[in-house]
Amino acid sequence: MQLFHPTTIDEAVTLLAAHEEARCIAGGQTLVAMLNLGLLDPPALVSLRKVEGLDRLVRHAGGGVTMGAAVTQAALAAAGLPGALAVLCEAAQQVAHPAIRNFGTVGGALCHADPAADLPPAFVAADARLTAVGPTGERSLSAGDFFVDYLTTALAEDEILTAIHLLPPPTGSVGAYYKFARVDGDYATVSVAATLTLEGGVCRAARIVLGSCAAGPLRLDAADEALADTRPDGKAVARAGALLQEAAEPLADMRGSAEYRRRIIPGLVARAVEAAMAKSEARS
Ligand SMILES: Cc1cc2nc3c(=O)[nH]c(=O)nc-3n(C[C@H](O)[C@H](O)[C@H](O)COP(=O)(O)OP(=O)(O)OC[C@H]3O[C@@H](n4cnc5c(N)ncnc54)[C@H](O)[C@@H]3O)c2cc1C
Repeated sequence: MQLFHPTTIDEAVTLLAAHEEARCIAGGQTLVAMLNLGLLDPPALVSLRKVEGLDRLVRHAGGGVTMGAAVTQAALAAAGLPGALAVLCEAAQQVAHPAIRNFGTVGGALCHADPAADLPPAFVAADARLTAVGPTGERSLSAGDFFVDYLTTALAEDEILTAIHLLPPPTGSVGAYYKFARVDGDYATVSVAATLTLEGGVCRAARIVLGSCAAGPLRLDAADEALADTRPDGKAVARAGALLQEAAEPLADMRGSAEYRRRIIPGLVARAVEAAMAKSEARS
């Protein structure tokens, strides 16, 4: 197996295209385990570690943020992003343990597309846009369109996720991530990423996204609409939770049966919304 260390995105894309079945390696936290287990045997690895600028998180003047795909989960956890974007930091804080967050990257977590991972639902809740670069150029896609199935994204084999873009969080927006796991540091049994935009206690827009409840992050227009133009009280939140519960198609594994996961969804949606509302109340 050959290992390449490109220093530019163009070089990385050329290397990936030149070696059939080559893979990118970012933090290596998942990929190396898969190599050790013999689940993958690519002829070449293209490391993203030395690619110029890929580990940079830039805060724009208007409040938007652009982060390179190789920003570590630890860096995102510590970024202190404002408003709705706080959902990203909270999710990153709850990925595994510090040793993994110090190497694991945002892009690696998104590209691996594990339905139980913490960052995918948070980036969908934050309505992120992703930039992919391949031999024919660059394209932009929404986080909602990026996750297409279990461990499968919309990236072509010869494309690299290079950057993630976030619009300035709306005034009055808040974000919270609630993870229910068997023990601290484990993957989620069920997780909920919530962003709300509030005006005088009334929710003007909501994005509620479940992790570990479907093949990818699960968001429903109807559930978000159930919260819009309400003071997110018991009834509206219960309605949103019930809609998500109905749509969920969780797997059964050692972290919980499908039925157990389905049952706890409404309660966890309520906790995530409550956590987001508490931030808004603390601010006013
Ligand atoms: C013990 C353990 C516990 C964990 N617990 C959790 C947890 O609780 N929650 C959680 O969310 N995650 C957890 N993880 C996963 C961890 O967050 C990984 O770091 C992450 O999934 C992969 O990030 P990485 O940078 O290490 O990617 P890598 O392992 O380097 O790559 C992962 C995959 O993404 C591809 N890839 C990486 N970057 C790009 C890119 N820019 N463009 C295109 N393809 C790319 C690679 O080719 C590979 O297929 C855990 C991992 C371990 C080992």
